[in-house]
Amino acid sequence: MTFFDTYNKYKDFDFDSFIKNIKLNDFNISLNKEYKNIFDFLTLIAADIDDTMLENIAKFSYESTIKNFGKTISLYSPLYLANHCINNCVYCGFKASNKIQRKKLNLNDLQKEAIEIKNLGIKHILILTGESRKDTPVEYILECLNIIKPYFSSISVEIYPLESDEYKLLIENGIDGLTIYQETYHQGNYANLHSGPKKDFLYRLETPDRAASAHIRTIGVGSLLGLYNVYYDVFFTALHADYLMRTYPEIEISVSFPRIRPEVGGYNPYTIIDDKLFVRFIIAMRLFLPKVGILLSTRESASFRDNMIGLGVTKFSAGSKTEVGGYTLDDEDKTERQFDISDERSVSEIASVIYKKGYQPIYTDWAP
Ligand code: SF4
Repeated sequence: MTFFDTYNKYKDFDFDSFIKNIKLNDFNISLNKEYKNIFDFLTLIAADIDDTMLENIAKFSYESTIKNFGKTISLYSPLYLANHCINNCVYCGFKASNKIQRKKLNLNDLQKEAIEIKNLGIKHILILTGESRKDTPVEYILECLNIIKPYFSSISVEIYPLESDEYKLLIENGIDGLTIYQETYHQGNYANLHSGPKKDFLYRLETPDRAASAHIRTIGVGSLLGLYNVYYDVFFTALHADYLMRTYPEIEISVSFPRIRPEVGGYNPYTIIDDKLFVRFIIAMRLFLPKVGILLSTRESASFRDNMIGLGVTKFSAGSKTEVGGYTLDDEDKTERQFDISDERSVSEIASVIYKKGYQPIYTDWAP
Protein backbone atom coordinates (compact mmCIF):
# COMPACT_ATOMS: atom_id res chain seq x y z
CA MET A 1 0.00 0.00 0.00
CA THR A 2 1.31 3.47 -0.89
CA PHE A 3 -0.02 7.01 -1.07
CA PHE A 4 -1.51 6.13 -4.46
CA ASP A 5 -4.26 4.16 -2.67
CA THR A 6 -5.16 7.21 -0.59
CA TYR A 7 -4.86 9.47 -3.62
CA ASN A 8 -7.32 7.31 -5.58
CA LYS A 9 -9.99 7.75 -2.92
CA TYR A 10 -10.04 11.52 -3.42
CA LYS A 11 -8.79 12.25 -6.92
CA ASP A 12 -12.26 12.58 -8.45
CA PHE A 13 -13.75 14.46 -5.51
CA ASP A 14 -15.99 17.33 -6.63
CA PHE A 15 -14.01 20.25 -5.21
CA ASP A 16 -16.11 22.92 -6.92
CA SER A 17 -19.40 21.73 -5.37
CA PHE A 18 -17.86 21.27 -1.95
CA ILE A 19 -16.36 24.76 -1.98
CA LYS A 20 -19.55 26.36 -3.34
CA ASN A 21 -21.59 24.86 -0.51
CA ILE A 22 -19.34 25.79 2.44
CA LYS A 23 -21.40 27.80 4.95
CA LEU A 24 -20.08 30.19 7.55
CA ASN A 25 -21.17 27.76 10.24
CA ASP A 26 -19.07 25.01 8.61
CA PHE A 27 -16.08 27.30 8.77
CA ASN A 28 -16.59 28.02 12.47
CA ILE A 29 -17.08 24.34 13.29
CA SER A 30 -13.90 23.38 11.41
CA LEU A 31 -11.86 26.17 12.98
CA ASN A 32 -12.86 25.21 16.49
CA LYS A 33 -12.40 21.43 16.19
CA GLU A 34 -9.47 20.15 18.22
CA TYR A 35 -8.55 17.53 15.59
CA LYS A 36 -9.24 18.61 12.04
CA ASN A 37 -9.76 16.26 9.12
CA ILE A 38 -8.85 16.91 5.50
CA PHE A 39 -12.28 18.41 4.78
CA ASP A 40 -11.93 20.80 7.71
CA PHE A 41 -8.68 21.83 6.06
CA LEU A 42 -10.41 22.37 2.72
CA THR A 43 -13.08 24.40 4.50
CA LEU A 44 -10.46 26.58 6.18
CA ILE A 45 -8.64 27.33 2.92
CA ALA A 46 -11.67 27.82 0.70
CA ALA A 47 -14.58 29.27 2.73
CA ASP A 48 -15.68 32.75 1.74
CA ILE A 49 -14.57 34.67 4.85
CA ASP A 50 -13.76 38.24 5.80
CA ASP A 51 -10.50 39.61 7.18
CA THR A 52 -11.59 39.22 10.81
CA MET A 53 -12.10 35.51 10.28
CA LEU A 54 -8.76 35.25 8.53
CA GLU A 55 -7.19 36.89 11.57
CA ASN A 56 -8.85 34.22 13.70
CA ILE A 57 -7.15 31.44 11.73
CA ALA A 58 -3.88 33.34 12.05
CA LYS A 59 -4.31 33.63 15.82
CA PHE A 60 -4.90 29.87 16.18
CA SER A 61 -1.98 29.19 13.84
CA TYR A 62 0.33 31.41 15.90
CA GLU A 63 -0.64 29.56 19.09
CA SER A 64 -0.18 26.15 17.49
CA THR A 65 3.22 27.09 16.06
CA ILE A 66 4.50 28.26 19.44
CA LYS A 67 3.10 25.16 21.14
CA ASN A 68 4.74 22.74 18.72
CA PHE A 69 7.93 24.49 17.59
CA GLY A 70 8.59 27.27 20.10
CA LYS A 71 9.96 30.55 18.82
CA THR A 72 12.37 29.05 16.31
CA ILE A 73 13.06 29.15 12.58
CA SER A 74 15.43 26.56 11.09
CA LEU A 75 17.77 27.69 8.34
CA TYR A 76 19.18 25.75 5.40
CA SER A 77 20.76 26.54 2.04
CA PRO A 78 20.47 24.88 -1.35
CA LEU A 79 23.57 23.75 -3.24
CA TYR A 80 23.15 23.03 -6.94
CA LEU A 81 25.51 20.30 -8.11
CA ALA A 82 24.43 20.35 -11.75
CA ASN A 83 21.73 21.58 -14.09
CA HIS A 84 21.65 18.81 -16.69
CA CYS A 85 18.12 17.64 -17.25
CA ILE A 86 16.45 15.29 -19.70
CA ASN A 87 12.93 16.38 -18.84
CA ASN A 88 10.93 19.21 -20.34
CA CYS A 89 8.77 20.55 -17.53
CA VAL A 90 7.18 23.52 -19.25
CA TYR A 91 7.60 25.84 -16.24
CA CYS A 92 11.32 25.29 -15.50
CA GLY A 93 14.45 27.14 -16.55
CA PHE A 94 16.52 23.94 -16.54
CA LYS A 95 14.28 22.06 -19.00
CA ALA A 96 16.16 20.12 -21.69
CA SER A 97 14.90 22.28 -24.55
CA ASN A 98 16.23 25.52 -23.01
CA LYS A 99 19.52 26.39 -24.65
CA ILE A 100 21.40 27.30 -21.50
CA GLN A 101 24.88 26.56 -20.32
CA ARG A 102 24.94 23.09 -18.73
CA LYS A 103 27.34 22.44 -15.92
CA LYS A 104 28.23 19.83 -13.34
CA LEU A 105 30.46 20.86 -10.47
CA ASN A 106 33.79 19.13 -10.32
CA LEU A 107 34.82 17.97 -6.88
CA ASN A 108 37.24 20.85 -6.33
CA ASP A 109 34.60 23.46 -7.09
CA LEU A 110 32.10 21.54 -5.00
CA GLN A 111 34.40 21.67 -2.01
CA LYS A 112 34.79 25.44 -2.43
CA GLU A 113 31.01 25.84 -2.54
CA ALA A 114 30.60 23.67 0.57
CA ILE A 115 33.22 25.63 2.52
CA GLU A 116 31.65 28.94 1.51
CA ILE A 117 28.20 27.80 2.67
CA LYS A 118 29.58 26.36 5.88
CA ASN A 119 31.31 29.68 6.56
CA LEU A 120 27.93 31.39 6.36
CA GLY A 121 27.02 29.35 9.44
CA ILE A 122 24.75 26.92 7.62
CA LYS A 123 24.72 23.32 8.88
CA HIS A 124 21.73 21.93 7.00
CA ILE A 125 22.07 21.70 3.27
CA LEU A 126 19.87 20.63 0.38
CA ILE A 127 21.79 19.34 -2.65
CA LEU A 128 20.05 19.57 -6.01
CA THR A 129 20.58 18.48 -9.56
CA GLY A 130 18.44 18.63 -12.66
CA GLU A 131 17.04 15.21 -13.48
CA SER A 132 19.56 13.27 -15.55
CA ARG A 133 20.79 9.89 -14.41
CA LYS A 134 23.26 9.90 -17.30
CA ASP A 135 24.96 13.18 -16.36
CA THR A 136 24.60 12.95 -12.60
CA PRO A 137 24.48 9.24 -11.78
CA VAL A 138 24.15 7.97 -8.23
CA GLU A 139 27.93 7.33 -8.26
CA TYR A 140 28.52 11.07 -8.80
CA ILE A 141 26.14 11.95 -5.95
CA LEU A 142 28.09 9.53 -3.73
CA GLU A 143 31.39 11.22 -4.66
CA CYS A 144 29.83 14.59 -3.84
CA LEU A 145 28.58 13.34 -0.47
CA ASN A 146 32.05 12.17 0.36
CA ILE A 147 33.33 15.73 -0.21
CA ILE A 148 30.61 17.71 1.58
CA LYS A 149 29.83 15.38 4.50
CA PRO A 150 32.47 16.83 6.84
CA TYR A 151 30.97 20.33 6.55
CA PHE A 152 27.29 19.72 7.38
CA SER A 153 25.24 17.98 10.05
CA SER A 154 22.26 17.29 7.79
CA ILE A 155 22.21 16.69 4.03
CA SER A 156 19.01 16.37 2.03
CA VAL A 157 18.69 15.59 -1.66
CA GLU A 158 16.38 17.00 -4.29
CA ILE A 159 17.31 14.95 -7.34
CA TYR A 160 15.55 12.56 -9.76
CA PRO A 161 13.44 9.88 -8.01
CA LEU A 162 15.38 6.79 -6.96
CA GLU A 163 14.70 3.19 -6.08
CA SER A 164 14.54 2.24 -2.42
CA ASP A 165 17.94 0.50 -2.42
CA GLU A 166 19.52 3.59 -4.00
CA TYR A 167 18.11 5.76 -1.19
CA LYS A 168 19.54 3.23 1.24
CA LEU A 169 22.97 3.63 -0.36
CA LEU A 170 22.78 7.43 -0.16
CA ILE A 171 21.66 7.24 3.47
CA GLU A 172 24.62 4.98 4.28
CA ASN A 173 26.83 7.63 2.70
CA GLY A 174 25.53 10.64 4.54
CA ILE A 175 22.13 11.90 3.44
CA ASP A 176 19.30 11.98 5.93
CA GLY A 177 16.58 13.83 4.02
CA LEU A 178 14.60 13.76 0.79
CA THR A 179 12.73 16.60 -0.87
CA ILE A 180 10.47 15.70 -3.75
CA TYR A 181 7.75 17.88 -5.22
CA GLN A 182 4.84 16.32 -7.03
CA GLU A 183 4.52 19.73 -8.79
CA THR A 184 0.79 19.19 -9.42
CA TYR A 185 -1.32 16.37 -8.03
CA HIS A 186 -3.77 16.47 -10.91
CA GLN A 187 -2.83 13.49 -13.06
CA GLY A 188 -4.18 14.84 -16.35
CA ASN A 189 -2.61 18.24 -15.90
CA TYR A 190 0.65 16.61 -14.79
CA ALA A 191 0.73 14.66 -18.07
CA ASN A 192 0.31 17.89 -20.05
CA LEU A 193 3.11 19.73 -18.24
CA HIS A 194 5.76 17.02 -18.28
CA SER A 195 7.72 14.98 -20.75
CA GLY A 196 10.68 12.67 -20.31
CA PRO A 197 10.96 10.15 -17.45
CA LYS A 198 9.28 12.62 -15.11
CA LYS A 199 6.02 12.08 -16.98
CA ASP A 200 5.56 8.93 -14.87
CA PHE A 201 3.12 10.40 -12.33
CA LEU A 202 2.83 7.28 -10.20
CA TYR A 203 6.58 6.68 -9.89
CA ARG A 204 7.02 10.21 -8.59
CA LEU A 205 3.99 10.00 -6.30
CA GLU A 206 5.35 6.88 -4.63
CA THR A 207 8.91 8.23 -4.24
CA PRO A 208 8.43 9.24 -0.56
CA ASP A 209 7.19 5.71 0.18
CA ARG A 210 10.34 4.24 -1.38
CA ALA A 211 12.59 6.60 0.62
CA ALA A 212 10.61 5.82 3.78
CA SER A 213 11.14 2.09 3.25
CA ALA A 214 14.87 2.85 3.12
CA HIS A 215 14.49 4.51 6.58
CA ILE A 216 15.26 8.06 5.64
CA ARG A 217 15.02 10.56 8.53
CA THR A 218 13.13 13.43 6.90
CA ILE A 219 10.86 13.82 3.88
CA GLY A 220 9.58 17.03 2.32
CA VAL A 221 6.69 16.99 -0.16
CA GLY A 222 4.88 19.75 -1.96
CA SER A 223 3.36 21.23 -5.06
CA LEU A 224 4.30 24.19 -7.20
CA LEU A 225 1.38 26.57 -6.89
CA GLY A 226 0.21 28.06 -10.14
CA LEU A 227 0.34 24.90 -12.25
CA TYR A 228 -3.28 23.92 -11.58
CA ASN A 229 -6.31 24.72 -9.39
CA VAL A 230 -4.62 25.74 -6.15
CA TYR A 231 -7.27 24.27 -3.85
CA TYR A 232 -6.78 20.89 -5.50
CA ASP A 233 -2.99 20.99 -5.20
CA VAL A 234 -2.88 22.34 -1.65
CA PHE A 235 -5.50 19.76 -0.59
CA PHE A 236 -3.40 16.89 -1.97
CA THR A 237 -0.18 18.29 -0.53
CA ALA A 238 -1.85 18.26 2.89
CA LEU A 239 -3.29 14.79 2.28
CA HIS A 240 0.13 13.48 1.22
CA ALA A 241 1.84 14.90 4.32
CA ASP A 242 -0.94 13.51 6.54
CA TYR A 243 -0.59 10.07 4.95
CA LEU A 244 3.20 10.09 5.47
CA MET A 245 2.91 11.23 9.10
CA ARG A 246 0.40 8.49 9.90
CA THR A 247 2.18 5.75 7.96
CA TYR A 248 5.74 6.57 9.02
CA PRO A 249 5.44 8.27 12.43
CA GLU A 250 9.20 7.96 12.98
CA ILE A 251 9.97 10.21 9.97
CA GLU A 252 9.99 14.01 10.17
CA ILE A 253 7.65 15.33 7.47
CA SER A 254 7.59 18.82 6.00
CA VAL A 255 5.65 20.57 3.27
CA SER A 256 6.26 23.44 0.94
CA PHE A 257 4.06 24.92 -1.76
CA PRO A 258 6.13 27.57 -3.50
CA ARG A 259 4.43 29.98 -5.85
CA ILE A 260 5.70 29.77 -9.37
CA ARG A 261 8.35 32.39 -10.25
CA PRO A 262 9.64 33.67 -13.60
CA GLU A 263 12.27 31.47 -15.25
CA VAL A 264 14.31 31.39 -18.43
CA GLY A 265 11.97 30.77 -21.36
CA GLY A 266 8.89 32.32 -19.71
CA TYR A 267 5.89 30.31 -18.56
CA ASN A 268 2.45 31.75 -17.94
CA PRO A 269 1.04 30.18 -14.77
CA TYR A 270 -2.43 28.61 -14.79
CA THR A 271 -3.25 30.91 -11.91
CA ILE A 272 -1.60 33.63 -9.79
CA ILE A 273 -1.86 33.23 -6.02
CA ASP A 274 -2.09 36.50 -4.09
CA ASP A 275 -0.43 36.96 -0.70
CA LYS A 276 -3.66 36.74 1.28
CA LEU A 277 -4.60 33.33 -0.12
CA PHE A 278 -1.04 32.08 0.20
CA VAL A 279 -0.94 33.07 3.88
CA ARG A 280 -4.23 31.28 4.39
CA PHE A 281 -2.82 28.05 2.95
CA ILE A 282 0.11 28.22 5.38
CA ILE A 283 -1.84 29.04 8.53
CA ALA A 284 -4.54 26.46 7.75
CA MET A 285 -1.85 23.81 7.14
CA ARG A 286 -0.48 24.51 10.60
CA LEU A 287 -3.94 23.89 12.11
CA PHE A 288 -4.56 20.69 10.14
CA LEU A 289 -1.08 19.23 10.78
CA PRO A 290 0.24 20.90 13.94
CA LYS A 291 3.57 19.03 13.83
CA VAL A 292 4.41 19.26 10.14
CA GLY A 293 7.41 21.37 9.13
CA ILE A 294 6.48 24.22 6.77
CA LEU A 295 9.18 25.68 4.51
CA LEU A 296 9.20 29.12 2.99
CA SER A 297 11.90 29.64 0.39
CA THR A 298 13.69 32.69 -0.97
CA ARG A 299 11.24 32.67 -3.89
CA GLU A 300 9.17 34.82 -1.51
CA SER A 301 10.09 38.43 -0.78
CA ALA A 302 12.04 39.47 2.31
CA SER A 303 9.09 41.42 3.73
CA PHE A 304 6.64 38.57 3.15
CA ARG A 305 8.94 36.06 4.84
CA ASP A 306 9.57 38.40 7.77
CA ASN A 307 5.83 38.82 8.28
CA MET A 308 5.31 35.05 8.27
CA ILE A 309 7.62 34.45 11.24
CA GLY A 310 5.35 32.99 13.93
CA LEU A 311 2.55 32.16 11.50
CA GLY A 312 3.03 28.48 10.85
CA VAL A 313 6.37 28.57 9.07
CA THR A 314 9.24 26.58 10.61
CA LYS A 315 12.04 26.62 8.03
CA PHE A 316 13.61 29.28 5.81
CA SER A 317 16.12 28.78 3.06
CA ALA A 318 18.76 31.48 3.44
CA GLY A 319 21.52 33.03 1.36
CA SER A 320 20.24 30.89 -1.52
CA LYS A 321 21.79 30.62 -4.96
CA THR A 322 19.80 28.71 -7.56
CA GLU A 323 22.56 28.43 -10.15
CA VAL A 324 25.38 25.89 -10.38
CA GLY A 325 28.49 27.44 -8.82
CA GLY A 326 26.42 30.31 -7.41
CA TYR A 327 28.36 30.71 -4.16
CA THR A 328 31.95 30.83 -5.38
CA LEU A 329 32.39 30.69 -9.15
CA ASP A 330 33.11 33.74 -11.30
CA ASP A 331 30.08 35.07 -13.16
CA GLU A 332 31.21 33.64 -16.50
CA ASP A 333 31.49 30.16 -14.96
CA LYS A 334 28.09 30.17 -13.26
CA THR A 335 24.99 28.90 -15.01
CA GLU A 336 21.58 30.56 -15.35
CA ARG A 337 19.42 30.42 -12.24
CA GLN A 338 16.73 27.75 -12.09
CA PHE A 339 14.35 30.48 -10.95
CA ASP A 340 14.63 34.05 -9.69
CA ILE A 341 15.09 34.73 -6.01
CA SER A 342 13.12 37.45 -4.24
CA ASP A 343 14.80 37.43 -0.86
CA GLU A 344 18.45 38.12 -1.72
CA ARG A 345 19.57 38.84 1.86
CA SER A 346 22.55 37.09 3.40
CA VAL A 347 22.22 34.38 6.04
CA SER A 348 23.34 36.81 8.76
CA GLU A 349 20.83 39.47 7.67
CA ILE A 350 18.00 36.92 7.80
CA ALA A 351 19.19 35.61 11.17
CA SER A 352 19.26 39.12 12.54
CA VAL A 353 15.64 39.76 11.52
CA ILE A 354 14.62 36.47 13.15
CA TYR A 355 16.32 37.59 16.39
CA LYS A 356 14.68 41.02 16.20
CA LYS A 357 11.28 39.34 16.04
CA GLY A 358 12.09 37.49 19.28
CA TYR A 359 12.77 34.17 17.56
CA GLN A 360 15.83 31.94 17.46
CA PRO A 361 17.44 31.00 14.14
CA ILE A 362 18.31 27.29 14.30
CA TYR A 363 21.35 26.21 12.33
CA THR A 364 21.28 22.60 13.43
CA ASP A 365 18.81 20.43 15.30
CA TRP A 366 20.39 17.21 14.12
CA ALA A 367 23.84 15.65 14.10
CA PRO A 368 24.55 12.11 12.91
S1 SF4 B 1 11.67 20.90 -12.82
FE1 SF4 B 1 13.36 19.47 -12.51
S2 SF4 B 1 12.94 17.80 -13.91
FE2 SF4 B 1 11.70 19.52 -14.60
S3 SF4 B 1 12.95 20.54 -16.17
FE3 SF4 B 1 13.36 21.51 -14.18
S4 SF4 B 1 15.16 20.50 -13.39
FE4 SF4 B 1 14.31 19.21 -15.00
